[in-house]
Amino acid sequence: MAKFAIDLKSGDIKNEAELIVGIDLGTTNSLVAYIKNGQAEAVKGKNGKSTLVPSVVHFSPEGKIVVGDAAKEKLISDPENTIYSVKRLMGKSYGDVQGVQQYFGYQIIDNDTESLVKIRVKDKFYTPIELSAEILKALKNRIEEELDRVVSKAVITVPAYFNDSQRQATRDAGKLAGLDVLRIVNEPTAASLAYGIGLDQSESHTIAVYDLGGGTFDISILRIQDGVFEVLATNGDTFLGGDDFDRAIVDYWTAENKLDSTQINADKELSQALRLQAEKAKKALSSESEYRGEVNTISCQITREQFDELIQPLVDRTIACCQNALKDAQVQLADIDRVIMVGGSTRVPLVRESVGQTFGQEVYDKVNPDEVVALGAAIQADILAGNQKDILLLDVTPLSLGIETVGGLMDIILPRNSKIPTRVGRRYTTSVDGQRNLKIAVYQGERDLIQHNRKLGEFILKGIPPMPAGLPKVEIQFILNADGILKVKAEELRSNVEQEIEVKPTYGISEEEMALMLIDSIQNAADDMTVRALLEARNEANNIVLSAERFLGQNQEILNEEEIATTRSLTQALRDAVAGTDKDAINQAMETLNTYTAPLAHRAMDFALLEAMKGKQI
Ligand code: AMP
Repeated sequence: MAKFAIDLKSGDIKNEAELIVGIDLGTTNSLVAYIKNGQAEAVKGKNGKSTLVPSVVHFSPEGKIVVGDAAKEKLISDPENTIYSVKRLMGKSYGDVQGVQQYFGYQIIDNDTESLVKIRVKDKFYTPIELSAEILKALKNRIEEELDRVVSKAVITVPAYFNDSQRQATRDAGKLAGLDVLRIVNEPTAASLAYGIGLDQSESHTIAVYDLGGGTFDISILRIQDGVFEVLATNGDTFLGGDDFDRAIVDYWTAENKLDSTQINADKELSQALRLQAEKAKKALSSESEYRGEVNTISCQITREQFDELIQPLVDRTIACCQNALKDAQVQLADIDRVIMVGGSTRVPLVRESVGQTFGQEVYDKVNPDEVVALGAAIQADILAGNQKDILLLDVTPLSLGIETVGGLMDIILPRNSKIPTRVGRRYTTSVDGQRNLKIAVYQGERDLIQHNRKLGEFILKGIPPMPAGLPKVEIQFILNADGILKVKAEELRSNVEQEIEVKPTYGISEEEMALMLIDSIQNAADDMTVRALLEARNEANNIVLSAERFLGQNQEILNEEEIATTRSLTQALRDAVAGTDKDAINQAMETLNTYTAPLAHRAMDFALLEAMKGKQI
């Protein structure tokens, strides 16, 4: 269907090309960008000052919602009604944020630890999705004012490690803001696009994207080949950034002036003034060698050398993350042919030097590090609008996805680092005769037991026609779309009974937990293997016990008393072994029972055959 826009003043039909905007929805700042005369450009506000919109939402006493610079000004004077860093809460449960709650100046509420967090402002409750939607609305207004037209389609960026729940939450926030979110794009992918990397399909690159913002650090290793972007690995620290540099400077001044830090911390206004002064000093030191200032007669002096010394340990931590990411990506330093700098804190000379030294090359820092992600998002949007053909973006899943199988084992269907979009199917069957329903529980994680992984959702495939155990053919498909949202589909192939869910996880995983899950899976690999072996032996043994019982029930007439008694006692011995924890004992008992019953089973088969032939003759 064609759509026409009519210019209300002239009555002319405007023939506007489709416009899709790129949005960087950041923890500290957000931006909107679009392609103007073939170039990506971030949009400034009405005052024309900055392209950055602080990701802060303030609720005024009259109930008005204010976003951006005006809201940021309220952070100190009205902290309870001023919400910042909401990105950290996207797709998270209360349980996820409990440990870090003191980090937030506002109230995070939920009695149910498994449900998503809400934020209390006066007597109202808001979800992180609603609050993010307010930021997105402000960005939408900003570009609509700039272009004097309605904007309803967007590409929004998210960190590469965002899980399904966090991506879904971002998409929902867009919807709530009146935006059709055509694509969720990884931030490092957007940053590469801003440098034009990947646009030429004949080239292939392995690149590192180093992103140091105000409060978070991310490193991503990407491989770009045939216009396909693949995230090989991500690493980082969710509580490391420019704010820590500021804090280090404040601590330095406190010590230099022999002040009492507890007293300073107790004085909210003074500590805030010092913090702002420290940020000013830090920014100045990005281009000068010394800073001199004063706060309430406290002398605030620092040289570049002193500053470098203060932040060296923090920078070293980011370098360690880079090394881990390289290891995870299974690439050598020499394989990295571009290093892209993202985030305001990469303006610090020591950061640029250390990263350059680590990777043995000059870093890419020509594009404004605050805008690079939004600009890349605008380029991606332009590709989607059909203006740049033949470019495909491909990412990988950060954690394995699978389902629960008998005994609480995790059966991985999509291994971690699988490329997406993707579709994988696997066949399962029932374990009980006449089973009509099959529960499909979907998990995310690296451990062998589902109890150590995170549940994303479950559903029941109902109405399987009654059949003996093992006969139904249930195909389970995992379909992961380009945004990393998972659809799980189950179908019994004999009867075509089918059921599917789109996994909107009941609660998300924090980045710290995600890292922990990976580390855990490595540290517990040996234990997990032992447990898996035991559980697998038990599952197999239980099946054998079931078939032995069925065999005894169906073949009484061809077995003598001794055979029946021995089969019974060997079955019981197997049951006893299953009750224990010695997998070798279980395997041994299985083998004894199998060896004993094999000739009996042959006899039963011959007998059945004979009966069948008799039947034919009649
Ligand atoms: P982002 O989260 O990417 O917006 O980065 C914000 C961080 O970058 C804050 O900690 C800022 O203080 C820091 N930043 C911005 N400009 C500079 C600069 N010129 N030198 C050092 N740090 C800066």
